[in-house]
Amino acid sequence: MTDALDHLMRAATNLVRITPTLSRFAPWDTGPRRDLAPASLPTVSALVAWDGGHIPATRPLHDAVRAACPLAHWRQTYSVEEVGQRFLDTYGWFELAGPTGHFVADGLRAYIGFWGPDLVYPMHAHEAEEIYFILSGRARFISEGLPDAMLHPGDSRLHHRYQRHAMKTEGDPVLTLVLWRGTGLEGRAQITPA
Ligand code: ZN
Repeated sequence: MTDALDHLMRAATNLVRITPTLSRFAPWDTGPRRDLAPASLPTVSALVAWDGGHIPATRPLHDAVRAACPLAHWRQTYSVEEVGQRFLDTYGWFELAGPTGHFVADGLRAYIGFWGPDLVYPMHAHEAEEIYFILSGRARFISEGLPDAMLHPGDSRLHHRYQRHAMKTEGDPVLTLVLWRGTGLEGRAQITPA
């Protein structure tokens, strides 16, 4: 029997397959499902209700994420001291595939991340290399060494090891597929001084 998480995994696999920036970033070497209990967050209901902001190529994954929300093991990285209560009430992520995700994966960590409107995600950094891919909505990316850019569905941004980056949402939420590769795969992002 398959459920919404299996369907989500198929939708993510399809999107990676048709998106060269993602399929080239890391081999989509994913394995069996793990038994990971659902865990919810305050922002999940806003994502479930969000029927928009995508493009035809990203709509299947957007809709598959919404359908899988109640089964997903939602998490947060930061404390209220680091990012403030409104940020914590309006953001969340879960690991679809990777060392601790819903599906086993080697050499790859794949996250689904959601941020509500009008949020500032402060400068942070991590060891693993990363690519953000926008599924729906939009967000401004501020990455050390790169021009600031408002990214829309289908756009992506690569971050190298320890490259500092920040993100701002302006008026719209943003739903992203984020991939990590390389050393530090099991590490976490740390807020860095401004
Ligand atoms: Zn990052």
